[in-house]
Amino acid sequence: MSDLLIMTPGPTEVSEEVRRAMSQKITNPDLDPDFFDFYLDVSSKLQQVIKTKNDVIIMSGEGILGLESACASLIEPGDKVLVLDNGIFGRGFADFADLYGAEVTKWEFPYNKEIDTNELAEKLAAENDFKFATFVHCETPTGIINNIGEITKLLNEHNILSVVDSVSAIGGVPIEVDEWGIDIILGGSQKCLSVPPGLTFMSVSDAAWDAVNNRETPVRGYYTNLQLWQNWYEEKYFPYTQAISDIYALNAALDKWLEDKEIFVRHNKIAEAVRKAITESNLNLFAENGHSDTVTAIEIPDSINYQELNQLMTESHNVMIAASLGEFEDKLIRIGHMGENCYEEKLYRTLKAFDHSLRELGFNLNVELHKVFINKMD
Ligand SMILES: *Cc1c(COP(=O)(O)O)cnc(C)c1O
Repeated sequence: MSDLLIMTPGPTEVSEEVRRAMSQKITNPDLDPDFFDFYLDVSSKLQQVIKTKNDVIIMSGEGILGLESACASLIEPGDKVLVLDNGIFGRGFADFADLYGAEVTKWEFPYNKEIDTNELAEKLAAENDFKFATFVHCETPTGIINNIGEITKLLNEHNILSVVDSVSAIGGVPIEVDEWGIDIILGGSQKCLSVPPGLTFMSVSDAAWDAVNNRETPVRGYYTNLQLWQNWYEEKYFPYTQAISDIYALNAALDKWLEDKEIFVRHNKIAEAVRKAITESNLNLFAENGHSDTVTAIEIPDSINYQELNQLMTESHNVMIAASLGEFEDKLIRIGHMGENCYEEKLYRTLKAFDHSLRELGFNLNVELHKVFINKMD
């Protein structure tokens, strides 16, 4: 299993530089003044990735902590929250909002397409008295990417704050937080930045800070309370001890990311070549439009059992890809081509393993997936 290639849409492969960074000698992050400057420096690197001057907070915990913290800190019982739902994570936001006592309005859009912004504009013209709206940038279970800039533009026209889950897109596709007026955008360490799971990060606009601070009732949570992150640098105080080794890893990954001037071009080129391999074949992509450049979801042919396919791929071909979640669990398989996974040789090996496994299970592919892929790359 040691050379198993992890091509799942997170956690992604972790580079040697990042693994080495995790093993560096630690200091006491609550007491060492240098750590506060180091943390500030890492946040400023994240600001460069998402193009913002807004505060960036890095929290110790998986991506879900970020999602829950935004809801816990913004919502007071009875607040009206709009949940835009075109996928499993989008729908999941409603549960968090509900948990913290919001009055949730959920607008559902088809799960195999990006959110239709014309339809959204019409709905918002008719109803818009929401404190904030949530949506997902990249729906990882289905490989759909939503147009953040157009959605936040509409929300901003109606003075609705935006909370965007970009856990599986930050670092893989261009994001302009300030230009697009995004209030809170959430990321995770283990997706496109290719750091082990353990950190979540977010940028918070002035308007979002105002909403978090001007509450009549206390935030129902401590670990999830963003108010405690207001003046950490000035006061040299963190609400809890920071996961210093994880932050060393994030720092190393960000240095690598910032040096890599081809990162978005590579994500786009590889994603297009993966999609081309599928569309040229007798397999089907799940998404009708809004194909993400970070993950591709492919329909599993009726004659194929996912468990058998997965077992063959991991045990005979040393490549791990992922099933989907929820209602798509045994219907879709997903290849993550984000971060450290996003290299031509890794996708070639993955598609070859996928191609051979399908044939071994008796599915008659009409093209060789890895060859279509590599032709498109050349
Ligand atoms: C990975 C991911 C998260 C974090 O959730 P886990 O399932 O715990 O990894 C949140 N949102 C999106 C869109 C993700 O892809």
